Amino acid sequence: MESVIHMKNTQENTVKKPVFSEKKEYRPKGVQETGLCFVGHEISEDRQVMNQFLHYDQLYTIRHGKNSPFFIGLLDGKIMGTRCPNCGDSWVPIRTHCWRLDCKLQPTEWIEMPLTAKVHTWTVAGWSGRSSLKRLPIILVYAIIGDSKVAIANELHKVKPWDVEFGMPLKIVFKPKDQRIGAITDFHFEPADNWSPSPMNAEKKRIKQLVDPVYEWVQTLK
Ligand SMILES: [Zn+2]
Repeated sequence: MESVIHMKNTQENTVKKPVFSEKKEYRPKGVQETGLCFVGHEISEDRQVMNQFLHYDQLYTIRHGKNSPFFIGLLDGKIMGTRCPNCGDSWVPIRTHCWRLDCKLQPTEWIEMPLTAKVHTWTVAGWSGRSSLKRLPIILVYAIIGDSKVAIANELHKVKPWDVEFGMPLKIVFKPKDQRIGAITDFHFEPADNWSPSPMNAEKKRIKQLVDPVYEWVQTLK
């Protein structure tokens, strides 16, 4: 005897489909996504060798989903973090669920973080890609924003590489509103207004000696 069990989905569809009422296009003019496209070929005189030209032009969609408020916050000049309503831990970069075992993946809540941070650790980049060559040396910091339990990486400006210190207070500086794109590069760190570097010492001298040739080299770049 054959029995068929009909499964009925009684669960309501709780996923609300987003309606995108705000849209901005800032792709460079003339860019059209065509995906993979053959755009030509060449064949040798003796017709023994062929090269084909394949053009790759692709529009990527980054779906931020639950993380979206962080990126919308950047557009608005705000740093949005998340906080666990159970234990009170907070995070930037954000966590959608609390990491503490006792909290049993408690969903977090959105909170606006202060525009202040402190240096957790840093590095001075003396080598980088073509796009940033002329800005070397670049100071990259992992900084703790507010009372976040994790650090976030970004550039630190307006300080000499040898003057950076562990724990030094920072402020977050956003680009002008019309230049923001909802990316981490919408802001950078600068020393807090009330901060001043400590006097030169042996370690600072050592870093300066390493960094000075980079400044000289960058001067020679055209
Ligand atoms: Zn928690």
